[in-house]
Amino acid sequence: MKIHSAEFVISNTDPAKCPKPDRPEYAFIGRSNVGKSSLINRLVQKNDLAKTSGKPGKTQLINHFSINANTKLEKPWYLVDLPGFGFAKVPKTIREQFASIISGYLTTRTNIQCIFVLIDMRIPPQQIDLDFMTRLGEQELPFAMIFTKTEKLKSGGRQMALDAYRLAMSEIFDTFPLYFITSAVSGEGRDDVLNYIDELNQA
Ligand code: GDP
Repeated sequence: MKIHSAEFVISNTDPAKCPKPDRPEYAFIGRSNVGKSSLINRLVQKNDLAKTSGKPGKTQLINHFSINANTKLEKPWYLVDLPGFGFAKVPKTIREQFASIISGYLTTRTNIQCIFVLIDMRIPPQQIDLDFMTRLGEQELPFAMIFTKTEKLKSGGRQMALDAYRLAMSEIFDTFPLYFITSAVSGEGRDDVLNYIDELNQA
C-alpha cells in the first residue's frame, strides 16, 4: 500500500467524540519514549504528523489521523496515536485516568482492526507491556507487536530479544502473537506493517 495522504483529524479524551467509525482503524500504543511518534511519521512519510520528542509522555490524547482519504487508489483508514502508558513521572491519578481512557476507547471502538503494541527491542520484556497484552488477549482484541529501534541490534541481539519474549509470553499465550521488526531510523519493517494493514483493509 502506498500512502497518498495523511492528515490530522482530531485529538480528544472522550471515545464518544472520535470520528464516525466508518472505516478500518489501526491503533498504535506503547510505553512513552518507545519511538511511537517516530514510527508513525516514518509509516506515513511525514516528519511532523505525530509529534516526536525526547520528553516522555507528550502524547496524552486519542489522536486520529485520516490516511488515504484523498485518493481513489487505496482504501481510506484511520491511524490512531494513543497515549503512552507507564509514565514514570506522571502522577498516579493521571496514569489511572489515561488507562481508563485507553481501555474505554479500545473496548468500545467497533472499527479497530488491529492494535499495534510498540515495544523497544533493546530492553528486556517489561511487566507493564506483558500486562497490557494480557488484557488485550483476555478481551479478545486483535493486536500485533511492533518491535522498535531494531537497527541498534544485530541479528544475534534480535534473536535473544525474541527468545526472551517467547519465553515470557509462553506463560500467557498459546501462540506467539504476530510481530514486526521495525526501525524509524532505517525504515525497516515499514512495508511489512503497511502491507499487513492493507491486507486487513481488503478483508
Ligand atoms: P514516543 O514517545 O514513543 O512517541 O517516542 P519518540 O518517537 O518521540 O522517540 C523517543 C526517542 O527515541 C527519540 O529520542 C527518538 O529519536 C528515538 N527513536 C525513535 N525511533 C527510533 C529508532 O527507530 N531507532 C533509534 N535508534 N532511536 C529511535
